[in-house]
Amino acid sequence: DAKERGRSGVRFFNQQMQADVSARAQLAAGLRQALLQQQFVLHFQPQIEHSAGVVGAEVLIRWQHPQRGLLAPGEFIAVAESSGQILAIGNWVLQQSCYQLAEWARQLHSAHWYLAVNISARQLHSASFVQDVRKAISDSGATPTRLVLEITESQLLQDIDSVIDKMLQLTRLGVRFSLDDFGTGYSSLSYLKRLPLAQLKIDRSFVRDVLTDPNDEVIIKTMLALGQSLELSVIAEGVETQAQHQKLLQLGCQQFQGYHFGKPAPLTDFEAAH
Ligand code: C2E
Ligand code: MG
Ligand code: MG
Ligand code: MG
Repeated sequence: DAKERGRSGVRFFNQQMQADVSARAQLAAGLRQALLQQQFVLHFQPQIEHSAGVVGAEVLIRWQHPQRGLLAPGEFIAVAESSGQILAIGNWVLQQSCYQLAEWARQLHSAHWYLAVNISARQLHSASFVQDVRKAISDSGATPTRLVLEITESQLLQDIDSVIDKMLQLTRLGVRFSLDDFGTGYSSLSYLKRLPLAQLKIDRSFVRDVLTDPNDEVIIKTMLALGQSLELSVIAEGVETQAQHQKLLQLGCQQFQGYHFGKPAPLTDFEAAH
C-alpha cells in the first residue's frame, strides 16, 4: 500500500544518500593518498597570440587514479574544495608550475612562455595565499611576470576588499590575474574596474555558438570592447574550429585557447608540439 511504498521510498533515498556520502568519503581518503603518492599530474594547453603564436599554457590538473585511470578535475576538485584538501593540492600545482617556469626560463625556445594556474576559492580566501604564492616563486626561482593566476567571478562575491588587497600585493611582484569563465558569473562592472586584473577570459559557452547565435556574437563583441576600455587583454577559451577562430579574429579577438590549437597534454607532448 501507499504507506509501504512511502517507507521504501524513504529507505531508497537514505540508501542513495548513504552511498553518496561514502563515495565522497572514499574520494577524500583517496585524495590524501594521491598527494602522498604523487598521483597528480599536470597537463598543459597552449595559449596563442595572433601575432606571436604560442605564448604560454594553462596548467590543468589530472589525477592518475590507481584503479580508475586518469581523472579530470570535474571528478575530484569539488570534493577537494569541500574537504579543504584543495589548499594542499593547489599549493602543489603552484609549486610545480613555478618550477616549470624556472626550467623553461633556462631554455631559449621556451624562455618567454608563461603559465596560467587555476586558483580555487579556498586558496584565494585563505590567509596564507599571498605567502604561498611568494614562496612558490622564491623557492623555484621563477620570474613572477611569467605567472598568471586564473580566478573566477564567483570567488569575488565575498570579502572583495581583502581579495583586492591580496591581488595588489601579488601584482606588485609582477604576477598577473585573469578572470576565468568570464560572463558566467555575476561580477558587476564596478567591481571589474576595481580589480587589478590583466586579462578577461571569455567563457567557452559564448564561443561554442558564436557562428550561429547572434546573441553570442554581440556578447563577445561587448566583452572585447570592455577589455579595450579597461585596458585588459581578452582571451577566448574553447576555440574548437578554424571557423570559430576566423570569426573571433574578425570580431577583434587576438588571443585564443582551445582544441583547435592544442588539447591539454602532458609536459613532454606539449613541449614536443610547440
Ligand atoms: P577551466 O579553468 O575553465 O579550464 C578549461 C577547461 O576546458 C579544461 O577542462 C580544458 O580541458 C577544457 N577545454 C580546453 N579547450 C577546450 C575546447 O576547445 N573545447 C572544450 N569543450 N573544452 C576545452 P578540465 O581540464 O577538465 O578542467 C576543468 C576545470 O577544472 C577548469 O576549468 C578549472 O576550473 C578546474 N581546474 C583544472 N585544473 C585545476 C587546478 O589545478 N586547480 C583548481 N583549483 N582547479 C583546476
Ligand atoms: Mg582556467
Ligand atoms: Mg575557463
Ligand atoms: Mg570555462
